[in-house]
Formats: sequence, C-alpha cells, structure tokens
Amino acid sequence: MNKRQFLKGAILFFPAGGVLSAVARMSAAQDSAAKDTAGAAGGAAAAPESNMPAGYNPADHSYGMGIEIDKCIGCNRCVEACKAENNVPPEPFFFRTWVERYPIMGNGETVVDCISTHPGKPSPTTADDREVVRTFFVPKLCNHCAHPPCVQVCPVGATFSTEDGAVLVDSKRCIGCRYCIQACPYGARFFNHNTNTADKCTFCYQRVVKGLLPACVEVCPTGARIFGDLKSKASRLVRFQRMNKINVLKPQLNTEPKVYYAQLDGEVR
Ligand code: SF4
Ligand code: SF4
Repeated sequence: MNKRQFLKGAILFFPAGGVLSAVARMSAAQDSAAKDTAGAAGGAAAAPESNMPAGYNPADHSYGMGIEIDKCIGCNRCVEACKAENNVPPEPFFFRTWVERYPIMGNGETVVDCISTHPGKPSPTTADDREVVRTFFVPKLCNHCAHPPCVQVCPVGATFSTEDGAVLVDSKRCIGCRYCIQACPYGARFFNHNTNTADKCTFCYQRVVKGLLPACVEVCPTGARIFGDLKSKASRLVRFQRMNKINVLKPQLNTEPKVYYAQLDGEVR
C-alpha cells in the first residue's frame, strides 16, 4: 500500500469530526521525505513547479486574468485549447474552463446554459430563442483566489497557493478526498477519473513560467481573455483593470478572486 492509498483509506475510515487532524498527523509523519524535495520552487510543493525554468523567481510575479464579456462570442475555442493543452478528459462536464450563455428573456427572466459540454456542436439551450431579447457569454475558470477555501480544507496540503498568485494541485499528494471540490464556491474543480485526483485550471502554469500565455488566452479570436502580471505596470492586465470597471464573481465571499471581469452583468452568479 503506498502513501496515497493509505491516506485515502484513512479519509474513508475515520469519523468526519476527527479526520482532518488524524490525516494531518499521518500526512506530516509520512510526507517528511516528500517535503524535503519541495524546496526547489520557493518552498512550494513539488510538481508542477519543478518544471520552472532557471532564473524564474515567483516572487517577482503575481498573475491574474481579465475577461471582457462584450468580446466573448461563445465559440468555445478556449475550452478546446485548454482540454488539449492540459490533458483534460474529453467527456462532457470535465472542464478547467467553460463558457456560460446568459439569454435574457422578454419577460426579464435570465436562463443560464453551459455551452461547453459538446464543443464543436450546436450549443444546448433551455431557452426558447424566439423569446430571447439579449444574450451574452461568460467564460469561467478557477479564480485563483487570494483567500482560497479549497486550500484551507485540503487535509494533506496537496492544494496550495504559489508565490506568483496561482492555486495549484500537487497530484502526487492529492488523495482524492474531494473536500476541495465541495469547498470551492465557484464550481471550478472536478474529479479527474484518469488520475484519481482533484483537477482544475492552473493558469497553464507550465506555460506562464516560461513567458507564454495560457492556451485559452492564446487561441481566443476576439481577445476576450487577457492574461498578465499584476506586478508589472506594463502588463496588459494592469491596463485592462485601469481602463474598465472591474467586477469579480461572488465578491461577498471575500475570496479575492484574481479573475477580473469587465461588463459583468448583475445576473451572473
Ligand atoms: Fe480554489 Fe475555487 Fe478559488 Fe479556484 S475558484 S482558488 S478552486 S476556491
Ligand atoms: Fe469567448 Fe474567446 Fe472563449 Fe471564444 S475563445 S468562447 S470568444 S473567451
């Protein structure tokens, strides 16, 4: 039995009240060797930061994403690019990023459809198009919260915040308990049945540390997605924030999302 299997069994065996402290103790004892290897990237856990290029200093950066609602045409290219780049399972309902369609009906009601379940095919919709007076699209992803509930609940430290502003999952540590999936108020995580671990957007961390854009940003044909470094005054994201009225999702939760929306309708949840 390896460490992951042992901890996974413990999560299922212990009563809920004692599981966090019990697993934390076991994890601390069994993970000391793993922790020794974690220092390569500014004290954070091992992969994916272990792929950091030489000379990259996470403390010099603070990443975020901007989304310009008026520019999104709901083409789903971002969703397809993300799946290809990050090996996301191809089945519907597994996403690291997805796009929602908000049709506003003649009677003022709003319907919400996820249009990313079948990329490349006509969007499923629950709205009667004859009644729709206005439609807009809202791309969503992990908000890489500055105060992430998912990090707080992870009993083994597999979900962690990086110094440069991303929230990542170390798949070698993740025991698949799904606490983080339940704790995320944005529905940004899913259980990857290929790896048996929690999965979600990483801002394409493997790309951005090399100075590349996340795949979704690179392919967006309208420039609806903007990625940048909040520590760089020359960054497109900083300019985007300066030029637009910015909103984040569920600000009342004080999670401090780092995905910033322009033209966000009050109907968006
Ligand atoms: Fe965690 Fe959800 Fe926030 Fe992403 S959006 S950092 S998964 S709480
Ligand atoms: Fe919207 Fe750009 Fe994604 Fe197309 S690629 S759905 S325009 S964000």
